[in-house]
Formats: sequence, structure tokens, C-alpha cells
Amino acid sequence: MTGKDVMEGQIKRIDLTRDYTAHREAYREAIEKVCRETAFSGGKYADAFDREFAEYVGVPYACGVNNGTSALHLAMLALGVGEGDQVIVPANTYIATAWGVSYTGAEPVFADCRVDTWEIDPEAAEKKITSRTKGIIGVHLYGQPFDYAGIRQVADRHGLFVVEDCAQAHGARFRGRNVGSLGELGCFSFYPGKNLYAFGEGGSVTCKEESYYRHMNRLKNQGCDIRYYHDEIGYNYRLEGLQGAVLSVSLNYLPRWTERRREIGARYEREITNPLFTMQAHPEDTEPVYHLFVVCLEERDRFVRYMEAEGVECNLHYPVPCHLQKAYAYLGGKRGDCPNAEYLADHCVTLPLFPEMREEETDRVIRLCNAFR
Ligand SMILES: *Cc1c(COP(=O)(O)O)cnc(C)c1O
Repeated sequence: MTGKDVMEGQIKRIDLTRDYTAHREAYREAIEKVCRETAFSGGKYADAFDREFAEYVGVPYACGVNNGTSALHLAMLALGVGEGDQVIVPANTYIATAWGVSYTGAEPVFADCRVDTWEIDPEAAEKKITSRTKGIIGVHLYGQPFDYAGIRQVADRHGLFVVEDCAQAHGARFRGRNVGSLGELGCFSFYPGKNLYAFGEGGSVTCKEESYYRHMNRLKNQGCDIRYYHDEIGYNYRLEGLQGAVLSVSLNYLPRWTERRREIGARYEREITNPLFTMQAHPEDTEPVYHLFVVCLEERDRFVRYMEAEGVECNLHYPVPCHLQKAYAYLGGKRGDCPNAEYLADHCVTLPLFPEMREEETDRVIRLCNAFR
């Protein structure tokens, strides 16, 4: 990369090529090792990453899987969710948070988010509890930890589990504790573009209880502990060796990446002073990791076109809240059910932010935001 593409003014929302270019040798060495040993499916490199990731999160166990959606599915299975059950899920999230519930035959029930943090609102969640509710999945959305204490209180009052969807929040902390170590289970994604990512697909479920870990390990491995003896109907959700090896390399870079994300996020928050923009609130007891930098503004669509004309790529996370997705029309969700999530969907836009973003690119995004009328 040269200064040329900066002069031309193209700024991508995220550019993974810069990471590969910077760490090419380390990545290639890791890949070569797996190939030499043909440790392709599960195996020693996948297991090694599980141990390292558990240590990073601060839990005894991490169960590596083939993607974050499978992580959420396994979490629901391990917690005994099935047909007839309900699980509360925020309306403002990526749809996969709800898929894991649906795959078991249970029903996601969508709860609204708070106006300030844009995270699941404990009060709204409590109102959705019925005799069929088994648990709550909170999402640390855009890298900002949700109000775990508030959700835990609601869950404990009603005897429910709490699962954390940590797909956007590797390394974030709530009251000094890592996300993924708070609830019964924590579900991570290593999709390319997440704060920690594989060269393909990957995911993990972090947990404190050995019985959950053992059960998930069996489920992801075709339902067997001993090869060719299948104790229950299982899945093929194993993490690939190549992904494990690449993730072990990336995990070393994650603290530095997180630092860079925080620096850029802090600059946006300090220097974008245009009163047309509102930003996600970060309560004092949380340490966010800025997976996505989302702002809200009335004339969102005009802003996106304006940035596009300047060569700056912005996108929307997410244009349709879960309760209004066609896939969930059968649940009868309608406009007005989750007004805060609906407002976000209509007004949110994501600014470029990734660890390798250059100062002059950040400057330019800030200038353009402040110049928007
Ligand atoms: C990315 C993501 C997922 C799904 O992860 P995949 O690895 O893409 O299957 C789930 N929940 C949230 C909040 C996500 O951002």
C-alpha cells in the first residue's frame, strides 16, 4: 500500500489485506505446519487454540467450532433448550443470535434495546418472560458489553440462564471481567472482519462448567466420545486445524488490535462534534472493543450517499431488526413492538474502523462527518 490510495480518497469500511501483508510470514508458517502434519479437522492445532483462547477469556474451557452460529446452536443444546421453549433475544442484533434458538425448535422472543447503549434492556427483557422462557441471550453489540448485572438479576429472579453472544466483543470487559466469562456460556465468532478472525470460518463456546464442555464436544463431533460409537444425534461442527493454527497466531496480535480500535474509536468520539450524530453510550463499568463504530442520524441515507461520493465506504448494522425479518414473520412481530431497535435500524450507519486504519484516513472520516449538513 502506498499513500496513493489515500490521495485517491478511497477508504474501505474494513481492509483485511493490511493485516495479511503485515503478518504474512507468521501466518504462512502456521498454515505450512498444519499441512505438513495434515492436522486438518480438529486435531492438535485446533485443540491448542482452544486452550489458548480459554486462557485469554479467563475460563477453564473453550470449545472450538466451525462458526459462531454453530456456537450459539451448541450453547442452546447444552442448556437443554428444545421444542416448546422460549429464549429472549435482543431485537437489535445480527440475526444469527436467534438462529441457534430456532435450530432447536424453540422460539426466540425479541426484546427491545436501551436508547443510550443500544443493548438489550433488562426491563424490556423481563416483560417478555412467560412460563416457557428458559433463558436470555445478551449481545455485546458493536463491541460494547451489555448490562450483564441487570440481565443477571432478571434471569436469577426467574430461574433463567444467561448466554453471552460475544461475536463482536473479543477482549471487552464488564466490571473488570472478560466477556465470555460472565454467563453460563459465551459464544464467539471468528468470521473474517470480527475482532479476532480465522482465514475462513470459526467459532468457540467458552464455559466454566465441565459438563457443558463435555456435552458440546460430543455434539460437535458427530455425537461421539469414542470414534464410531454415537451416543446421541450429533453435528459436524468441528473447528478446522488450519483455522486453529491461524487463530493461535492472531490471538497474539489481538491486544494490539484492540488498542488500535480503541484509539480510533476515542478519536471519533472526541472529534466528531457534528450535533446531527448520536453515538453509543459506554457505561463506566464497561471496557468496549469497538468492533463497529455505529452512529445514528436522521438523514442516514443521504449521509451514506455523501460518503460514497467521497469514496468512503459505510454500511448498515443492521437495516432490519430481527422481529421484522421475514424469516420470523410467523412469530407475529410488527412495527412498534421494539421502537428503539426500529429507530436504530432506520438511522444507523457504520463508519470505517479497523486496526490498520491510518491516521490520515481517520482524520478524513472525521472531517467529512463534521462537514455534513
Ligand atoms: C457474526 C455474528 C454471529 C455469527 O457468527 P458466524 O461466525 O458468522 O456464524 C452471531 N452473532 C453476532 C452478534 C455476530 O456479529
